[in-house]
Parts: sequence; C-alpha cells; structure tokens
Amino acid sequence: MKRGLLIVLSGPSGVGKGTVCRSLQARMPGLRLSVSATTRQPRPGEIDGRDYYFISDAQFQRLLAEGAFLEWARVHGCHYGTLKDKVAEVLASGSDLLLEIDIQGAEQVRRLMPEAVTIFMAPPSMAALEQRIIGRGTEDAQKIRQRLETARQEMKAYRSYEYLVVNDEVEATAALLASIIQSEKCRVSRGARPPLQEVNEV
Ligand code: ADP
Ligand code: 5GP
Repeated sequence: MKRGLLIVLSGPSGVGKGTVCRSLQARMPGLRLSVSATTRQPRPGEIDGRDYYFISDAQFQRLLAEGAFLEWARVHGCHYGTLKDKVAEVLASGSDLLLEIDIQGAEQVRRLMPEAVTIFMAPPSMAALEQRIIGRGTEDAQKIRQRLETARQEMKAYRSYEYLVVNDEVEATAALLASIIQSEKCRVSRGARPPLQEVNEV
C-alpha cells in the first residue's frame, strides 16, 4: 500500500485556512484533515472531535509527557498539538492528510518528515486580514490586536515553505491548493508509477 501524502498548511489566524480547507475537502473527498488537540475554548459552532479535540491544560501536559504529539506549539496563549498516532494511522492507510498548523509546528514537521509538502497561505493585505478576523466575530478587541501582531511576525516565515498561496477568493484558493496536491502526487520521486506491470517490474 502506497503511503499517503502529508501536507502542511500554515498562515495567520483569520487568513481563511479553515474556510478554504472545507472547500478543498469538497473537491478532494479522499483528503483527510488532521484534528489537533487544543486548550483553547471552542468557538460557537465548533464541535469537539471534528474541529479540534478541546482538552484541559492538565490533559495537554499529560499527552506531552507521554510523547503523544508529533509537534506542538503555544499560539496566542493556548496550546495546540498534532497527535502522532493519528498521523501515522492515516498515512499508513494510504490517505493524504493535511495538517493545518502554525509556523512553529511546521518547522518541527519539516525536520521530522522532510517529505511533507509545505504551503503558506497569506492574506491579500493586512487590512483584509483584520477585516476577516473582525468579520468572524469570535475574538474580542484585545485578542484581535494580539492575532494581528502575531500575523506580522508569522508572515516573515513564508520563505521556509515550498508554496505560497494568496487567499483572495475562497474557491480560487481551494482550486490552487487542489492543483498543488495533485501535482505533488504525480511526482515520480514521490513514487508515481505507470499502471503497467512490465514497466514496474524492471
Ligand atoms: P483561519 O482558519 O485561517 O483562522 P477562517 O477560515 O476562520 O480563518 O476565516 C476567517 C474569516 O474570513 C471567516 O469569517 C471567513 O468567512 C472569512 N474568509 C475566509 N476566506 C476569505 C476570502 N477569501 N475572502 C473573504 N473572506 C474570507
Ligand atoms: P485558531 O485558534 O485560530 O483555530 O488557531 C490558531 C493557530 O493555531 C493557527 O495558526 C493554527 O494553524 C494553529 N494550530 C492549530 N492546530 C495546531 C496544531 O496542532 N499545532 C500547531 N503547531 N499549531 C496549530
């Protein structure tokens, strides 16, 4: 069984990662989105086990001590982490898996799994990013300021990624991500082979 492709997507909070990923999954139903554990409070409409595993600080520290995380980071005052076993299980089953994680987590994954495809999503402008965070209506003024300040720092990290996509319009961005993933899966260096036994036996 061919292992699935691991895709890392980062970008500032509010740039539209979650929105674009929902559209991407509609285009690529086989693509799995990793569910992270976090100590952040759920936003209205977020569901435990679908959007995140919402856990306490003590639970997070226990998982960390057990070595359960492939990567983890403290972002905007809360802890976030990707569960190692889930990643291994999905990739071994042959499914492609997208991790939507911050730049510190991406750095850790790049080191541990250099075969991962890394994509950075940027907003068309800082003003557009601010409007999106305000429009989402899930953060108070102080948290919005904190996220914008972090965003300015995070934007500088785009050079460490293989791909940069600017999220101008949701459907166009989802189409772009789908084409990046499809292209990566056609790479011979990633194990793409023609469906001819005679060729593959050589
Ligand atoms: P993230 O997951 O990166 O934190 P979200 O997906 O929650 O961001 O999007 C933040 C807000 O921006 C949401 O209200 C969403 O509807 C809006 N949004 C996302 N993408 C776009 C876009 N291309 N143009 C305008 N608004 C967008
Ligand atoms: P939010 O609170 O807006 O859902 O996410 C805040 C930030 O945490 C985003 O940059 C998001 O990509 C990041 N994030 C979400 N899950 C993880 C994770 O498992 N690991 C890391 N390192 N970052 C994460």
